[in-house]
Amino acid sequence: MSGLNDTAAPVENFGTAPRPPERDARRAIGRGLLRRCPNCGEGHLFDGYLKVRPACEVCGEAFHHHRADDFPPYLVIFIVGHIVVPLLLGVEKAWHPDLWILISTFLPLTAILCLLLLPPVKGAVIGLQWGNRMHGFDPAAHDPADPAPVPGTST
Ligand SMILES: [Zn+2]
Repeated sequence: MSGLNDTAAPVENFGTAPRPPERDARRAIGRGLLRRCPNCGEGHLFDGYLKVRPACEVCGEAFHHHRADDFPPYLVIFIVGHIVVPLLLGVEKAWHPDLWILISTFLPLTAILCLLLLPPVKGAVIGLQWGNRMHGFDPAAHDPADPAPVPGTST
């Protein structure tokens, strides 16, 4: 007998599994802004400037599940643009400085702001993902990016 339900996943336990405890996403974002582990707040999130550690050195929380991707640079461009462009327009309107003065001040300012904001914003994005159990940060969900377990082996 064939039907639409033949290919559907079994749903007999759907909704009855115990829900994991809630995570405080705001606190996790704050800890990420400080470049700390979103779980314990003690361990370091990064190993270097932007390289995320595989796991927290204090509590062991795995970080390799994060999928920050291009979102932190997008946010940084958004934030820095909203700081630099009004400032540039205000300076131009108020003092009409020479173009070389604008270029020699606002280009470095833009680059420095981007470089300063990128690590904390990336940490906040990872904290947001951890706090909301996104991607592989939910231990009850299977992360398709994780390697599939080999049948017959136990880990
Ligand atoms: Zn930790």
